[in-house]
Amino acid sequence: MNRGYNFSAGPAAIPTEVLERAQEELLNWNGQGCSVMEFGHRTPEFGQLLEQTEADLRKLLHIPNHYRVLFMHGSASHQFAMVPMNFLAPDDTANYLEQAHWSKKAIQEAQNFGNIHVQQGFQQTEEGLAIVPESDWQLDEDGKYLHFTSNETIVGVQFKKEPKAFAGKLVCDMCSDILSRPIDIEQYALIYAGAQKNIGPSGMTVVIVREDLFEQMQTHRVPSLFQYPLMAQHKSLFNTPPSFGIYLASLVFEWLLERGGVETIEQLNQQKAQLLYDAIDASDFYHSPVAKDSRSMMNVAFTLSDPSLDSAFLLQAKEQGLLALKGHRDFGGMRASIYNAMPLEGAQALVDFMKEFERRA
Ligand SMILES: *Cc1c(COP(=O)(O)O)cnc(C)c1O
Repeated sequence: MNRGYNFSAGPAAIPTEVLERAQEELLNWNGQGCSVMEFGHRTPEFGQLLEQTEADLRKLLHIPNHYRVLFMHGSASHQFAMVPMNFLAPDDTANYLEQAHWSKKAIQEAQNFGNIHVQQGFQQTEEGLAIVPESDWQLDEDGKYLHFTSNETIVGVQFKKEPKAFAGKLVCDMCSDILSRPIDIEQYALIYAGAQKNIGPSGMTVVIVREDLFEQMQTHRVPSLFQYPLMAQHKSLFNTPPSFGIYLASLVFEWLLERGGVETIEQLNQQKAQLLYDAIDASDFYHSPVAKDSRSMMNVAFTLSDPSLDSAFLLQAKEQGLLALKGHRDFGGMRASIYNAMPLEGAQALVDFMKEFERRA
């Protein structure tokens, strides 16, 4: 079978060039006579890989020196707990935006560790699902931070910019849009992103955190592996790190740098999203449930006006190599995830298929 265009929301497509290079190097990485998976993490060679990976990420996202980069085990769900564990004493308060699926899970975890002030982040408008305007938010000014999800993967709703509130004290679940566009790191206390959308394989999470916050972080009853300051002190080598994840991330970062970095990939991402949303808006056969201002550049959710055609749509798409278009189980419909690894031709192939499917229906 040929490699298809993979619209999976996550684990998601990894650039073909990256997979080919990993394949090439699988048996003999870096001239060491074995795979990177089989190679000591405390060797100078692995140390160099780790250093280069961090340097490339810093370059891509323009991460200032007073922020630390951690390559951690586990997923965003670990961070849902780790963030409040580290930031909140039992009497402390934090603000959380509630936005569909993922942030609810983050809120649930956080409630085990402090007082959580919840502000609704989404609302239904005539135009569709939308982000509640910031002027309507009510936040607890004493909160240690404001947690939000920059791109809500399930329904395809994305902040166009960082919120203005809690500047410098934002904590962001950036799983599904990190590295898709430039960001202003200094607005954040901490950013986390599981690797399986825009970075590499699942099982690793990248954390970017402002170093001066370490002083105030909690350590009482926090397991060592869950302490940000300790992980930073050991430069992500407190224990055996997710070494294959780090290796693949390094290849993805290199791939991005070769293509002009985040600024260039953002333009491509905009083009891909535009192609799809234009096709959806131009037809009565397809419908976007999201208001224009809030639409995601990474996850394009849409429904068919006749849902009884959903399974035929999915089946025929798959036959043409357009994979994993089924929407999230809580939402239904379709979802085309077009992360960095999706080429423009993939988005175009989907648009062509959608037009053809509508014509024949
Ligand atoms: C995919 C995703 C997660 C996933 O977390 P896991 O713990 O890896 O299952 C969390 N948040 C967002 C915004 C996501 O897109």
